[in-house]
Amino acid sequence: MDLSYIINQLGEDREEYFNAVSPPVIQTSNFAFRTVAEMAEAFTDEKKYRLYTRGNNPTTEMLAKKIAALEKTEDCLVLSSGASAITLAVLSQVKAGDHVVCVMHPYSWAHHLLTEIMPRFNVETTFVDGTDIRNFEAAIKPNTKVIYLESPTTMYFELQDLTAVNALAKKHGIVTIIDNSYSSPLGQNPAEYGIDIVLHSATKYINGHSDVVAGVLCASNEIIKKIYSSEFLNFGTVAAPWSSWLMIRALRTLPLRIKQSSESTQRIIEFLSHHPKVKKVHYPHHESHPQYQLAKKQMKIPMGMFSIELNTDSKEKVVQFCESLKYFLMAVSWGGHESLIIPAIAFREGSELPFNFIRFYIGLEEAEILLNDIKSALELV
Ligand SMILES: *Cc1c(COP(=O)(O)O)cnc(C)c1O
Repeated sequence: MDLSYIINQLGEDREEYFNAVSPPVIQTSNFAFRTVAEMAEAFTDEKKYRLYTRGNNPTTEMLAKKIAALEKTEDCLVLSSGASAITLAVLSQVKAGDHVVCVMHPYSWAHHLLTEIMPRFNVETTFVDGTDIRNFEAAIKPNTKVIYLESPTTMYFELQDLTAVNALAKKHGIVTIIDNSYSSPLGQNPAEYGIDIVLHSATKYINGHSDVVAGVLCASNEIIKKIYSSEFLNFGTVAAPWSSWLMIRALRTLPLRIKQSSESTQRIIEFLSHHPKVKKVHYPHHESHPQYQLAKKQMKIPMGMFSIELNTDSKEKVVQFCESLKYFLMAVSWGGHESLIIPAIAFREGSELPFNFIRFYIGLEEAEILLNDIKSALELV
């Protein structure tokens, strides 16, 4: 299926709604039946029939079809947040007494789930440096049920070799889960490498307009069906129809948005990597990245997020740099229309990141304007 078909046609039964080009938001909680027999039939398979919006909703189904096709998986669940996708993915695959192997430096709430919540239910996690497959192998125990990946990680930009991890996991009958938010479904498709569950914070690239919090979880029919009829319906963290509609609209421009962000980012990386006031650039698609070759192999597009370390010993200079940027907003999140920074000095104590570390997300503003903004700010360092 080609990208244009997925984005503009797939799942859109326009005859069902007056041949409107843009689909309706089916803002309803429940669906009515004409006969007892039809209602009884619906109760037999809540995934197949429309009964209640906590389970199925036509607007959300349309989006789910598109996302599953983009991720090259059979099915998809659309959730009210990326954090919920992480929680359901992990929880659905383990029971008390099980063990998880997770990459070091995953998204903060994945870390919290595995270190603070799961141990209460007797599920333990070993964190490994995911840049070397031998570390995964060494961490596997007889009760390991899940390998949790995030490639690249969104603060440290460390990659995992998906082919190698998948081979190892399959050998031991372990389920693999990956947070693929960094790359978006256009930039990397872990299912092509055999990864079982691919999740995203749809808040980031997929919605891309900084106005919806949502998540997606993509996998085989078998895995999705199991999660759907248990954790998904029970946690009730489905996306609202209105959020799904906004994400369908956002998908129309996903390739354009990513192209713009990617091209600007490469120009900015080129500039920064030669700048004397910049000590180090952390970006998977730059040749200084220790896993540059793996990035080129696994990731289809150089994406819009990276970090730098400023060449200074002074915290004041870092603050001055951040506060003097005119076009970069200082805010969490990323993947939207607007360029952003997060300076590591703003983090709580205990962060391993150096004080001169700043994460950048490059939005849709003109590259020239962003470059000049950074240029001026660097003069103050
Ligand atoms: C933001 C983010 C999440 C969490 O998603 P929410 O939609 O905020 O719940 C998960 N993983 C990564 C990599 C993220 O950046």
